Amino acid sequence: MSFYAGIDFGTSGARLAIVNATAELCYEASMPFGTVAESDLAACWQETLFALLQKVDRAERKKLAAIAVNGTSATVLLCDAAGQPLTPPLLYNDPRGAAEVETLQRLFAQEQYMNAPCQHTVLSATSSLVKLLWWSRQATISHAKYLLHQADWLAFLLHGQPGISDYHNSLKLGYDVVECRYPAWLSALAIAPLLPHVVAPGTLIGRVQPDVATQLDLSPDCRVCAGTTDSIAAFLASGATEPGEAVTSLGSTLVLKLLSQVPVENQVYGIYSHRLGDRWLVGGASNTGGAVLQQFFTPADLACLSDRIPTEQVSPLTYYPLTQPGERFPVNDPNLLPCLEPQPDDPVAFLHGLLESMARIEAEGYQLLQTLGATPLSRVYTAGGGAQNAAWTALRQRHLGVTVERSRQPEAAYGTALLALGGGI
Ligand code: ADP
Repeated sequence: MSFYAGIDFGTSGARLAIVNATAELCYEASMPFGTVAESDLAACWQETLFALLQKVDRAERKKLAAIAVNGTSATVLLCDAAGQPLTPPLLYNDPRGAAEVETLQRLFAQEQYMNAPCQHTVLSATSSLVKLLWWSRQATISHAKYLLHQADWLAFLLHGQPGISDYHNSLKLGYDVVECRYPAWLSALAIAPLLPHVVAPGTLIGRVQPDVATQLDLSPDCRVCAGTTDSIAAFLASGATEPGEAVTSLGSTLVLKLLSQVPVENQVYGIYSHRLGDRWLVGGASNTGGAVLQQFFTPADLACLSDRIPTEQVSPLTYYPLTQPGERFPVNDPNLLPCLEPQPDDPVAFLHGLLESMARIEAEGYQLLQTLGATPLSRVYTAGGGAQNAAWTALRQRHLGVTVERSRQPEAAYGTALLALGGGI
Protein backbone atom coordinates (compact mmCIF):
# COMPACT_ATOMS: atom_id res chain seq x y z
CA MET A 1 0.00 0.00 0.00
CA SER A 2 1.39 3.42 -1.02
CA PHE A 3 0.56 6.78 0.56
CA TYR A 4 0.52 10.33 -0.83
CA ALA A 5 1.09 13.52 1.17
CA GLY A 6 -0.29 17.02 0.66
CA ILE A 7 1.05 19.87 2.76
CA ASP A 8 -0.83 23.18 3.02
CA PHE A 9 1.08 26.25 4.16
CA GLY A 10 -1.40 28.88 5.34
CA THR A 11 -0.94 32.21 7.03
CA SER A 12 -0.87 31.00 10.63
CA GLY A 13 0.30 27.39 10.33
CA ALA A 14 0.68 24.33 8.12
CA ARG A 15 -1.39 21.16 7.71
CA LEU A 16 -0.56 17.75 6.37
CA ALA A 17 -2.98 15.24 4.83
CA ILE A 18 -2.11 11.71 3.77
CA VAL A 19 -4.26 9.69 1.39
CA ASN A 20 -4.01 6.13 0.11
CA ALA A 21 -4.18 4.99 -3.52
CA THR A 22 -7.99 5.29 -3.49
CA ALA A 23 -7.91 8.89 -2.19
CA GLU A 24 -9.12 7.94 1.28
CA LEU A 25 -7.90 10.32 3.98
CA CYS A 26 -5.62 8.25 6.26
CA TYR A 27 -3.86 10.78 8.44
CA GLU A 28 -3.93 14.49 9.23
CA ALA A 29 -1.65 16.72 11.30
CA SER A 30 -1.18 20.43 11.79
CA MET A 31 1.37 22.79 13.31
CA PRO A 32 0.95 26.51 14.10
CA PHE A 33 3.83 28.84 13.24
CA GLY A 34 3.43 30.87 16.45
CA THR A 35 4.86 34.39 16.51
CA VAL A 36 7.81 34.52 14.14
CA ALA A 37 10.07 37.45 13.25
CA GLU A 38 10.12 38.28 9.54
CA SER A 39 13.80 37.31 9.36
CA ASP A 40 13.01 33.81 10.73
CA LEU A 41 9.99 33.06 8.53
CA ALA A 42 11.69 30.92 5.90
CA ALA A 43 13.53 28.89 8.57
CA CYS A 44 10.22 28.43 10.43
CA TRP A 45 8.52 27.13 7.27
CA GLN A 46 11.41 24.72 6.65
CA GLU A 47 11.28 23.41 10.23
CA THR A 48 7.50 23.04 10.04
CA LEU A 49 7.70 21.13 6.74
CA PHE A 50 10.19 18.64 8.16
CA ALA A 51 8.45 18.38 11.55
CA LEU A 52 5.06 17.69 9.93
CA LEU A 53 6.49 14.86 7.83
CA GLN A 54 8.20 13.45 10.91
CA LYS A 55 4.82 13.30 12.67
CA VAL A 56 3.75 10.55 10.29
CA ASP A 57 4.12 7.05 11.68
CA ARG A 58 7.53 5.68 10.58
CA ALA A 59 6.11 2.66 8.77
CA GLU A 60 3.68 4.82 6.75
CA ARG A 61 6.34 7.43 6.10
CA LYS A 62 8.51 4.80 4.39
CA LYS A 63 5.56 4.06 2.11
CA LEU A 64 5.08 7.68 1.00
CA ALA A 65 5.17 7.51 -2.80
CA ALA A 66 4.72 11.24 -3.53
CA ILE A 67 4.53 14.62 -1.80
CA ALA A 68 3.12 17.96 -3.01
CA VAL A 69 3.00 21.34 -1.26
CA ASN A 70 0.62 24.30 -1.60
CA GLY A 71 1.29 27.80 -0.32
CA THR A 72 -0.46 31.13 -0.07
CA SER A 73 -0.71 32.74 -3.48
CA ALA A 74 1.76 35.62 -4.12
CA THR A 75 3.99 34.79 -1.12
CA VAL A 76 7.46 34.89 -2.69
CA LEU A 77 11.16 34.39 -1.93
CA LEU A 78 14.24 35.75 -3.68
CA CYS A 79 16.90 33.02 -3.74
CA ASP A 80 20.56 32.64 -4.70
CA ALA A 81 22.00 30.02 -7.09
CA ALA A 82 21.83 27.38 -4.34
CA GLY A 83 18.14 28.14 -3.70
CA GLN A 84 18.83 29.86 -0.38
CA PRO A 85 16.67 32.92 0.46
CA LEU A 86 18.60 36.19 0.19
CA THR A 87 16.03 38.23 2.12
CA PRO A 88 12.95 37.47 4.23
CA PRO A 89 9.95 36.36 2.11
CA LEU A 90 7.36 38.89 1.01
CA LEU A 91 3.95 37.66 2.19
CA TYR A 92 0.81 37.47 0.05
CA ASN A 93 -0.58 40.78 1.36
CA ASP A 94 2.68 42.80 1.49
CA PRO A 95 2.08 46.05 -0.42
CA ARG A 96 5.73 47.23 -0.43
CA GLY A 97 5.88 47.07 -4.20
CA ALA A 98 2.70 49.11 -4.79
CA ALA A 99 4.55 51.85 -6.69
CA GLU A 100 5.70 49.26 -9.25
CA VAL A 101 2.12 48.96 -10.50
CA GLU A 102 2.63 52.37 -12.08
CA THR A 103 5.97 51.22 -13.53
CA LEU A 104 4.12 48.39 -15.27
CA GLN A 105 1.28 50.66 -16.38
CA ARG A 106 3.78 53.08 -17.93
CA LEU A 107 5.53 50.17 -19.62
CA PHE A 108 2.27 48.78 -21.02
CA ALA A 109 1.41 52.24 -22.37
CA GLN A 110 4.50 52.22 -24.63
CA GLU A 111 3.92 51.36 -28.24
CA GLN A 112 6.03 48.20 -28.36
CA TYR A 113 3.99 46.78 -25.48
CA MET A 114 0.61 47.33 -27.11
CA ASN A 115 -0.11 43.61 -26.81
CA ALA A 116 0.23 43.71 -23.02
CA PRO A 117 -3.16 43.51 -21.34
CA CYS A 118 -4.26 46.89 -20.01
CA GLN A 119 -5.72 45.38 -16.80
CA HIS A 120 -3.64 42.35 -15.95
CA THR A 121 -3.65 40.35 -12.67
CA VAL A 122 -0.05 41.54 -12.19
CA LEU A 123 -1.33 45.12 -11.88
CA SER A 124 -2.07 44.79 -8.18
CA ALA A 125 -0.08 46.20 -5.26
CA THR A 126 0.53 42.67 -3.95
CA SER A 127 1.12 40.64 -7.15
CA SER A 128 4.22 38.43 -7.31
CA LEU A 129 5.58 40.41 -10.27
CA VAL A 130 5.25 43.72 -8.45
CA LYS A 131 7.14 42.21 -5.50
CA LEU A 132 9.92 41.03 -7.84
CA LEU A 133 10.16 44.49 -9.42
CA TRP A 134 10.43 46.01 -5.95
CA TRP A 135 13.24 43.60 -5.09
CA SER A 136 14.98 44.47 -8.37
CA ARG A 137 15.61 47.95 -6.93
CA GLN A 138 17.26 46.61 -3.76
CA ALA A 139 21.02 45.90 -3.53
CA THR A 140 20.44 42.21 -2.80
CA ILE A 141 19.17 41.61 -6.35
CA SER A 142 22.77 41.34 -7.62
CA HIS A 143 23.10 37.93 -5.89
CA ALA A 144 19.64 36.70 -6.92
CA LYS A 145 19.15 33.77 -9.26
CA TYR A 146 15.56 32.60 -8.68
CA LEU A 147 12.21 34.06 -7.74
CA LEU A 148 10.24 31.28 -6.06
CA HIS A 149 6.79 31.12 -4.51
CA GLN A 150 6.36 29.69 -1.02
CA ALA A 151 5.16 26.31 -2.36
CA ASP A 152 7.97 26.17 -4.97
CA TRP A 153 10.64 26.81 -2.36
CA LEU A 154 9.31 24.26 0.13
CA ALA A 155 9.11 21.61 -2.61
CA PHE A 156 12.67 22.57 -3.64
CA LEU A 157 13.87 21.78 -0.10
CA LEU A 158 12.67 18.24 -0.74
CA HIS A 159 13.69 17.67 -4.39
CA GLY A 160 16.69 20.01 -4.57
CA GLN A 161 16.10 21.54 -8.03
CA PRO A 162 15.77 25.32 -7.69
CA GLY A 163 13.82 27.49 -10.12
CA ILE A 164 10.67 25.41 -10.72
CA SER A 165 7.10 26.61 -10.21
CA ASP A 166 3.56 25.65 -11.29
CA TYR A 167 1.04 27.58 -13.39
CA HIS A 168 -1.30 28.27 -10.47
CA ASN A 169 1.32 30.02 -8.36
CA SER A 170 2.77 31.74 -11.44
CA LEU A 171 -0.47 33.43 -12.60
CA LYS A 172 0.20 36.51 -10.45
CA LEU A 173 3.77 36.54 -11.75
CA GLY A 174 2.41 37.19 -15.24
CA TYR A 175 2.67 33.68 -16.69
CA ASP A 176 0.24 33.27 -19.61
CA VAL A 177 -1.88 30.27 -18.60
CA VAL A 178 -3.73 30.22 -21.93
CA GLU A 179 -0.56 29.99 -24.04
CA CYS A 180 1.47 28.22 -21.30
CA ARG A 181 4.47 30.54 -21.60
CA TYR A 182 5.73 33.85 -20.30
CA PRO A 183 4.40 36.63 -22.54
CA ALA A 184 6.87 38.57 -24.70
CA TRP A 185 6.50 41.78 -22.65
CA LEU A 186 7.54 39.88 -19.51
CA SER A 187 10.44 38.02 -21.12
CA ALA A 188 11.78 41.41 -22.28
CA LEU A 189 12.11 42.76 -18.71
CA ALA A 190 15.49 42.85 -16.96
CA ILE A 191 14.16 40.54 -14.24
CA ALA A 192 13.21 37.82 -16.77
CA PRO A 193 16.24 35.57 -15.98
CA LEU A 194 14.92 35.22 -12.41
CA LEU A 195 11.53 33.85 -13.48
CA PRO A 196 10.99 30.18 -12.59
CA HIS A 197 10.42 27.42 -15.11
CA VAL A 198 6.69 26.67 -14.98
CA VAL A 199 5.08 23.20 -15.12
CA ALA A 200 1.54 21.91 -14.58
CA PRO A 201 0.53 21.45 -10.92
CA GLY A 202 1.11 17.83 -9.89
CA THR A 203 3.90 17.29 -12.44
CA LEU A 204 6.63 14.97 -11.17
CA ILE A 205 9.69 17.14 -10.51
CA GLY A 206 12.02 14.53 -9.07
CA ARG A 207 12.74 12.22 -6.17
CA VAL A 208 13.51 13.50 -2.68
CA GLN A 209 17.17 14.35 -2.25
CA PRO A 210 19.10 11.42 -0.72
CA ASP A 211 20.09 13.38 2.41
CA VAL A 212 16.47 14.50 2.94
CA ALA A 213 15.25 10.91 2.51
CA THR A 214 17.77 9.81 5.16
CA GLN A 215 16.96 12.66 7.54
CA LEU A 216 13.18 12.13 7.28
CA ASP A 217 13.27 8.37 6.96
CA LEU A 218 11.53 8.51 3.59
CA SER A 219 11.91 6.00 0.79
CA PRO A 220 14.61 7.20 -1.67
CA ASP A 221 11.98 6.60 -4.37
CA CYS A 222 9.53 9.09 -2.84
CA ARG A 223 8.58 11.62 -5.56
CA VAL A 224 8.02 15.36 -5.22
CA CYS A 225 5.34 16.90 -7.43
CA ALA A 226 4.67 20.51 -8.41
CA GLY A 227 2.21 22.16 -6.04
CA THR A 228 -0.53 24.77 -6.23
CA THR A 229 -2.04 27.67 -4.27
CA ASP A 230 -4.12 27.35 -1.10
CA SER A 231 -7.44 28.33 -2.67
CA ILE A 232 -7.07 25.94 -5.62
CA ALA A 233 -6.08 23.16 -3.23
CA ALA A 234 -9.32 23.85 -1.31
CA PHE A 235 -11.23 23.59 -4.59
CA LEU A 236 -9.57 20.26 -5.42
CA ALA A 237 -10.55 19.00 -1.94
CA SER A 238 -14.20 19.96 -2.35
CA GLY A 239 -15.28 17.11 -4.59
CA ALA A 240 -16.10 19.37 -7.57
CA THR A 241 -14.83 17.71 -10.74
CA GLU A 242 -17.23 18.50 -13.60
CA PRO A 243 -17.71 21.74 -15.57
CA GLY A 244 -20.63 23.59 -13.96
CA GLU A 245 -19.63 22.53 -10.45
CA ALA A 246 -18.52 25.31 -8.15
CA VAL A 247 -17.17 26.00 -4.71
CA THR A 248 -18.36 28.93 -2.60
CA SER A 249 -16.08 29.85 0.26
CA LEU A 250 -18.13 31.41 3.08
CA GLY A 251 -15.31 32.79 5.20
CA SER A 252 -14.78 36.41 6.22
CA THR A 253 -15.57 37.25 2.61
CA LEU A 254 -17.52 35.47 -0.13
CA VAL A 255 -15.38 33.78 -2.79
CA LEU A 256 -16.86 31.94 -5.81
CA LYS A 257 -15.02 29.47 -8.06
CA LEU A 258 -16.81 27.86 -11.01
CA LEU A 259 -15.28 25.04 -13.07
CA SER A 260 -15.78 25.99 -16.71
CA GLN A 261 -15.04 24.72 -20.21
CA VAL A 262 -13.85 28.20 -21.16
CA PRO A 263 -11.79 30.84 -19.35
CA VAL A 264 -13.42 34.15 -18.37
CA GLU A 265 -11.48 37.34 -17.71
CA ASN A 266 -13.13 40.58 -16.70
CA GLN A 267 -11.08 43.32 -15.13
CA VAL A 268 -14.08 45.48 -14.18
CA TYR A 269 -15.31 42.83 -11.77
CA GLY A 270 -11.88 41.36 -10.91
CA ILE A 271 -12.75 38.01 -12.51
CA TYR A 272 -9.90 35.79 -13.68
CA SER A 273 -9.41 32.15 -14.60
CA HIS A 274 -6.91 29.59 -13.45
CA ARG A 275 -6.08 26.70 -15.77
CA LEU A 276 -7.09 23.28 -14.47
CA GLY A 277 -5.77 20.87 -17.12
CA ASP A 278 -7.98 21.56 -20.16
CA ARG A 279 -10.61 23.30 -18.03
CA TRP A 280 -10.76 26.62 -16.24
CA LEU A 281 -11.49 27.72 -12.73
CA VAL A 282 -13.32 31.02 -13.03
CA GLY A 283 -13.29 33.05 -9.84
CA GLY A 284 -14.78 36.19 -8.34
CA ALA A 285 -14.64 37.60 -4.80
CA SER A 286 -17.19 39.78 -3.00
CA ASN A 287 -16.49 41.84 0.11
CA THR A 288 -19.68 40.61 1.76
CA GLY A 289 -19.43 37.53 4.00
CA GLY A 290 -19.01 36.23 7.53
CA ALA A 291 -17.04 39.26 8.79
CA VAL A 292 -20.31 41.26 8.74
CA LEU A 293 -22.08 38.56 10.76
CA GLN A 294 -19.30 38.74 13.34
CA GLN A 295 -20.05 42.45 13.85
CA PHE A 296 -23.54 41.62 15.12
CA PHE A 297 -23.52 38.05 16.47
CA THR A 298 -21.36 35.76 18.59
CA PRO A 299 -20.69 32.29 17.11
CA ALA A 300 -23.14 30.79 19.64
CA ASP A 301 -25.88 33.29 18.69
CA LEU A 302 -25.25 32.63 15.01
CA ALA A 303 -25.83 28.93 15.53
CA CYS A 304 -28.98 29.12 17.66
CA LEU A 305 -30.66 32.07 15.87
CA SER A 306 -30.05 30.44 12.48
CA ASP A 307 -31.95 27.36 13.61
CA ARG A 308 -35.05 29.54 14.11
CA ILE A 309 -35.07 31.08 10.61
CA PRO A 310 -38.16 30.07 8.57
CA THR A 311 -36.07 29.27 5.49
CA GLU A 312 -39.05 28.59 3.19
CA GLN A 313 -40.09 32.25 3.62
CA VAL A 314 -38.40 35.03 1.66
CA SER A 315 -37.12 37.77 3.97
CA PRO A 316 -38.57 41.19 3.05
CA LEU A 317 -35.25 42.79 4.11
CA THR A 318 -32.85 43.58 1.28
CA TYR A 319 -29.39 44.49 2.54
CA TYR A 320 -25.92 44.83 1.05
CA PRO A 321 -23.85 43.56 4.00
CA LEU A 322 -20.32 45.06 3.99
CA THR A 323 -17.92 45.93 6.82
CA GLN A 324 -16.74 49.05 4.97
CA PRO A 325 -17.62 50.91 1.76
CA GLY A 326 -16.56 49.41 -1.56
CA GLU A 327 -17.40 46.36 -3.66
CA ARG A 328 -15.90 44.83 -6.81
CA PHE A 329 -17.96 41.72 -7.55
CA PRO A 330 -20.79 41.17 -8.52
CA VAL A 331 -21.22 44.97 -8.33
CA ASN A 332 -18.24 47.11 -9.24
CA ASP A 333 -18.55 50.24 -7.11
CA PRO A 334 -15.52 51.25 -5.03
CA ASN A 335 -17.81 53.60 -3.08
CA LEU A 336 -20.74 51.25 -2.47
CA LEU A 337 -22.00 51.87 1.06
CA PRO A 338 -22.92 49.01 3.39
CA CYS A 339 -26.73 48.70 3.50
CA LEU A 340 -27.83 47.20 6.85
CA GLU A 341 -31.09 49.11 7.44
CA PRO A 342 -33.85 48.81 8.49
CA GLN A 343 -32.79 46.69 11.45
CA PRO A 344 -35.77 44.86 13.00
CA ASP A 345 -35.99 44.30 16.77
CA ASP A 346 -36.20 40.53 16.26
CA PRO A 347 -32.61 39.21 15.88
CA VAL A 348 -33.89 36.15 13.98
CA ALA A 349 -35.52 38.40 11.36
CA PHE A 350 -32.34 40.51 11.14
CA LEU A 351 -30.12 37.44 10.65
CA HIS A 352 -32.62 36.05 8.13
CA GLY A 353 -32.34 39.30 6.14
CA LEU A 354 -28.52 39.23 6.27
CA LEU A 355 -28.19 35.60 5.18
CA GLU A 356 -30.86 35.97 2.49
CA SER A 357 -29.11 39.09 1.14
CA MET A 358 -25.75 37.30 0.99
CA ALA A 359 -27.42 34.33 -0.73
CA ARG A 360 -28.82 36.78 -3.30
CA ILE A 361 -25.36 38.35 -3.85
CA GLU A 362 -23.85 34.86 -4.27
CA ALA A 363 -26.50 33.93 -6.88
CA GLU A 364 -25.90 37.24 -8.70
CA GLY A 365 -22.18 36.42 -8.68
CA TYR A 366 -22.67 33.04 -10.34
CA GLN A 367 -25.13 34.64 -12.78
CA LEU A 368 -22.48 37.19 -13.75
CA LEU A 369 -19.83 34.49 -14.32
CA GLN A 370 -22.27 32.64 -16.60
CA THR A 371 -23.34 35.83 -18.43
CA LEU A 372 -19.64 36.42 -19.18
CA GLY A 373 -19.36 32.96 -20.71
CA ALA A 374 -18.64 30.43 -17.95
CA THR A 375 -20.26 26.97 -18.07
CA PRO A 376 -23.78 27.02 -16.50
CA LEU A 377 -23.88 26.26 -12.78
CA SER A 378 -24.96 22.70 -11.87
CA ARG A 379 -23.91 22.16 -8.23
CA VAL A 380 -22.33 24.20 -5.46
CA TYR A 381 -19.99 22.86 -2.77
CA THR A 382 -19.42 25.04 0.27
CA ALA A 383 -16.24 25.64 2.24
CA GLY A 384 -15.38 27.99 5.13
CA GLY A 385 -16.99 28.87 8.46
CA GLY A 386 -20.47 29.46 6.98
CA ALA A 387 -20.63 25.96 5.47
CA GLN A 388 -21.90 24.56 8.77
CA ASN A 389 -25.01 26.80 8.73
CA ALA A 390 -27.94 24.62 7.53
CA ALA A 391 -30.41 27.54 7.38
CA TRP A 392 -28.06 29.55 5.18
CA THR A 393 -27.57 26.48 2.96
CA ALA A 394 -31.36 26.23 2.52
CA LEU A 395 -31.67 29.94 1.60
CA ARG A 396 -28.75 29.63 -0.82
CA GLN A 397 -30.24 26.56 -2.44
CA ARG A 398 -33.46 28.51 -3.10
CA HIS A 399 -31.53 31.41 -4.70
CA LEU A 400 -29.04 29.28 -6.63
CA GLY A 401 -31.56 26.72 -7.91
CA VAL A 402 -29.00 23.87 -7.77
CA THR A 403 -27.93 21.37 -5.12
CA VAL A 404 -25.79 22.97 -2.41
CA GLU A 405 -23.65 20.74 -0.22
CA ARG A 406 -20.56 20.95 1.98
CA SER A 407 -17.12 20.35 0.51
CA ARG A 408 -16.28 16.64 0.83
CA GLN A 409 -13.05 17.50 2.62
CA PRO A 410 -12.61 20.90 4.27
CA GLU A 411 -8.80 20.91 4.25
CA ALA A 412 -6.74 22.31 1.38
CA ALA A 413 -4.01 19.79 2.32
CA TYR A 414 -6.32 17.00 1.14
CA GLY A 415 -6.63 18.64 -2.31
CA THR A 416 -2.84 18.87 -2.53
CA ALA A 417 -2.54 15.20 -1.52
CA LEU A 418 -4.80 14.42 -4.51
CA LEU A 419 -2.29 16.26 -6.72
CA ALA A 420 0.47 14.03 -5.33
CA LEU A 421 -1.72 10.98 -5.94
CA GLY A 422 -2.76 11.94 -9.45
CA GLY A 423 0.64 13.11 -10.60
CA GLY A 424 -0.96 15.96 -12.55
CA ILE A 425 -4.26 17.68 -13.22
P1 ADP B 1 -11.54 33.09 7.03
O1 ADP B 1 -10.57 31.98 6.77
O2 ADP B 1 -11.91 33.89 5.83
O3 ADP B 1 -11.23 33.94 8.21
P2 ADP B 1 -13.37 30.97 7.97
O4 ADP B 1 -13.57 30.02 6.86
O5 ADP B 1 -12.52 30.57 9.13
O6 ADP B 1 -12.94 32.40 7.42
O7 ADP B 1 -14.81 31.36 8.53
C1 ADP B 1 -14.99 32.36 9.50
C2 ADP B 1 -16.29 33.07 9.24
O8 ADP B 1 -17.36 32.13 9.34
C3 ADP B 1 -16.55 34.16 10.25
O9 ADP B 1 -16.56 35.40 9.61
C4 ADP B 1 -17.93 33.81 10.84
O10 ADP B 1 -18.80 34.92 10.84
C5 ADP B 1 -18.49 32.75 9.92
N1 ADP B 1 -19.25 31.76 10.66
C6 ADP B 1 -18.83 30.99 11.68
N2 ADP B 1 -19.84 30.24 12.15
C7 ADP B 1 -20.94 30.52 11.40
C8 ADP B 1 -22.30 30.09 11.37
N3 ADP B 1 -22.77 29.17 12.22
N4 ADP B 1 -23.11 30.63 10.46
C9 ADP B 1 -22.67 31.55 9.59
N5 ADP B 1 -21.41 31.99 9.55
C10 ADP B 1 -20.54 31.51 10.44
